[in-house]
Amino acid sequence: MITRLLTVTLLCGAILWGQAAKLKEIKPGMNFFKPDQDIQMGREYSQQIEKEVEVLPTGPLTEYIASLGQKIASQPQAGKFPFTFKVVNDPTINAFALPGGPVYINTGILLNADNEGQLMGVIAHEVSHITLRHSTNQVSRSMMIQIPAMLAGAYGQSKGGLSGMLAQLGVGLGANGLLMKFSRGAEQQADLLGARMMAQVGYNPIEMARFFETLEAQSGGKSGPSFFSSHPNPGNRSKYVSEEVTLLPQRDFSADTGKFQRMKQLAKALPEPKKKMGQGGGQPPAQPPQNPDGSRTWKGDGFKINYPGAWLGLGEPNAPTVTLAPREGVRQENNSAPQIGLGVIVARYEDDDSRFNHREDTLRLVQQIQQQNASMSRTQPQLDQHQLNGRNVFVVRLTSKSPLDGGNEVDTLVTMEHRGGMMYLVFIAPERQMQSVQRDFDNILNSLVLQ
Ligand SMILES: [Zn+2]
Repeated sequence: MITRLLTVTLLCGAILWGQAAKLKEIKPGMNFFKPDQDIQMGREYSQQIEKEVEVLPTGPLTEYIASLGQKIASQPQAGKFPFTFKVVNDPTINAFALPGGPVYINTGILLNADNEGQLMGVIAHEVSHITLRHSTNQVSRSMMIQIPAMLAGAYGQSKGGLSGMLAQLGVGLGANGLLMKFSRGAEQQADLLGARMMAQVGYNPIEMARFFETLEAQSGGKSGPSFFSSHPNPGNRSKYVSEEVTLLPQRDFSADTGKFQRMKQLAKALPEPKKKMGQGGGQPPAQPPQNPDGSRTWKGDGFKINYPGAWLGLGEPNAPTVTLAPREGVRQENNSAPQIGLGVIVARYEDDDSRFNHREDTLRLVQQIQQQNASMSRTQPQLDQHQLNGRNVFVVRLTSKSPLDGGNEVDTLVTMEHRGGMMYLVFIAPERQMQSVQRDFDNILNSLVLQ
């Protein structure tokens, strides 16, 4: 009897699964924020970005893009975000989406697209990033490693709303002018969801893949148009988008407003932009002066540490944590928050019982970091005991996936006793760059002074 039941269940399962496998469900990743916070963050950030770029006033071009955008935004999968669509007078090939709704399309997209389908492809792709909450997902993931300190209440009450809290974490949206880069996985998700919504409103999704590939080809394999610095090419776009098209019920891709060529002419006739978004879209935070040897000294709460003069200290002075990183170790592209792929996090860890036990506290911290970072190895780590300037330290090596090159990332955790609790440093680098940064890492670690 039991066997029979099992067979029946298995069959049902197979049938259900078979159907699901046809069109894969596209789900947003983990997120510490509520959708309302996406909206709030997008509002805060759009005010900032609109000071830096030249948004076109209402007119035929803006209305055209907004009407195309609304077609996508009204698709059931797009979700209930308050989408807005604005045109930026900038011939650079770029487009960006802020969390919670704002979409910006550079005139460069219009000038380089061949038809309305290609333009629609970019719009659908950007809307999908918002729908899938990729920005706050990225922020959440970059916060993971710093969360132990945050949970410990080391920051006290955050000031200045969400962006203030993030700034304190060193992953501020605006405060540092550091912006983010989507992951390749997020890119593919945005392509696939975008393709579905495009097809629903009567445009052939293959135009989106074709446009991205033409742009990529034009760039001659180099870093390419700005679009790719925030939207890295996941590869095989045409292949997976055309496979997706064969699974879609829609076959009629004849939608076209007939306005595209006229709008392209309007974009061509625009005066030179007065403002152009700079690399990173903002000023780096002010840094302490350089020491005679070229390094800088960061003063935190209870510690001092030196870092290379060309690096940035990200955080609030005299706070219990700071992130030290070269600019290229943190993504500075369009959209919201950065991910640290090369750099050092210095922070204090306090567990709830606030009784210091070096080995146990280190293990607990490792566990938290592992739990909070999906790509991190889960194996029980090895604790190596060393001496550092007369102090006992534990050194733990962890590996995860690098947001910089998609390869392995080495995360070396160093913990030590401080003021009856524990200080820790996490040295983050892509495996491929470990050799070249080893000396910087050593200098940083050796310069640490606890007070
Ligand atoms: Zn993208």
